[in-house]
Amino acid sequence: MQTNESFSMPIPGPVDPVPVPRAITPRADGRTDLLGLSRAQIGELLAGAGLDAKQAKLRSKQLFHWIYHRGVTDFDAMTDIAKAQRPFLAERFIVGRPDVVEAQISSDGTRKWLLRSDDGQDYEMVFIPDADRGTLCVSSQVGCTLNCRFCHTGTMRLVRNLTPGEIVGQVMLARDALGEWPKGSMASSADEDDADDNAGHYTADGRLLTNIVMMGMGEPLYNFDNVRDALKVVMDGEGLSLSKRRITLSTSGVVPMMARAAEEIGVNLAVSLHAVTKEIRDEIVPLNRKYGIEELLQACADYPRANNARRITFEYVMLKDKNDSDEHAHELVRLIKQYKIPAKVNLIPFNPWPGAPYDTSTPERVRSFSNIIFEAGISAPVRTPRGRDIDAACGQLKTTAEKKSRAELDRLAEEKLAALG
Ligand code: SAH
Ligand code: SF4
Repeated sequence: MQTNESFSMPIPGPVDPVPVPRAITPRADGRTDLLGLSRAQIGELLAGAGLDAKQAKLRSKQLFHWIYHRGVTDFDAMTDIAKAQRPFLAERFIVGRPDVVEAQISSDGTRKWLLRSDDGQDYEMVFIPDADRGTLCVSSQVGCTLNCRFCHTGTMRLVRNLTPGEIVGQVMLARDALGEWPKGSMASSADEDDADDNAGHYTADGRLLTNIVMMGMGEPLYNFDNVRDALKVVMDGEGLSLSKRRITLSTSGVVPMMARAAEEIGVNLAVSLHAVTKEIRDEIVPLNRKYGIEELLQACADYPRANNARRITFEYVMLKDKNDSDEHAHELVRLIKQYKIPAKVNLIPFNPWPGAPYDTSTPERVRSFSNIIFEAGISAPVRTPRGRDIDAACGQLKTTAEKKSRAELDRLAEEKLAALG
């Protein structure tokens, strides 16, 4: 079933030439999309359009508020910006949203959106409602270069980094779809023109979208700058204002970027560990051959100290007869204790996809594995699969019409290797 050829594919590093579109690009009609831009970037664009420094600063602050706090896309609705100036803005800028190609709802309430970028690239986002929270699973790349063997996204051939606009755009779109923008206008004392909708009251409470996980398509630490810039916008107190405690970034273990993630982003970290021996992790998470388990665990031990995060979450996909024995569970406990990592373990039953080379562990196996970790005093909940019927569960995300079988993929991997000589 498993061929060695497919394991020895070249492993890309953070400097791999993944196409990255420029964050600020005028559209075909000459206007520039402000979605995803910071206050400073909006200010620079306004200055470039001819506003003096003071005006540019004031207007960028107002625009930032309208765009990210209020969800407004129409300059005409921005009541504290002088009426006479609104056409000036509308001629030069737009506040866009990703195009929605398809929206699906699972029988369990999970929602999945297939989105399309301006250059025709498809990516997905998933919203998972729970009793006490609503989590948006955000993509960082179209596809993924890392080829973890259990992950459907890793089988996509096309890869490109998403821009901050495309990343923040997912959160904006979810707020649109959930109807979660504050109603009514801001305090009218700040208005330069008469506000015509002073009726509503803004309340930040009772929102459906409470948490964000960077666990959609792609490896967020391979698109570090854009993910950081996007999350900074999402966390900004004058905009979407999501607390860093409610955001989790999941990495397959890009060790050299983890310290920077702690310093420059500061959100919770989840690490896709998935195996406790070199042999097995090399096989299922090929990046392990570049950054091994010891190195990864040391980086995990350093992460919370660097930014006061509460705990690292270790994700562990349960693959039948591969990584799910009691011995593996004991070894996992030993490693966490050896490195003194404040950790919890998230056990993920493998979500199957056509042609996947693994099976899901039995519920008894998952329970036994979980119990061993619990008994050692480490929390080890089992993640309930959500949205499997619409291919929205972890590792099932994959766009493009071309779904390939594992045999085809192995053949393609061999071709790739042959071409490399
Ligand atoms: N690239 C990042 C984040 C996206 S994947 C990472 O790998 O961490 C989010 C989580 O889903 C990861 O823990 C990933 O290993 C897991 N996953 C991937 N494929 C899966 C599958 N088929 N079943 C269950 N979990 C899967
Ligand atoms: Fe990429 Fe994460 Fe999937 Fe691995 S599990 S292929 S890193 S998206």
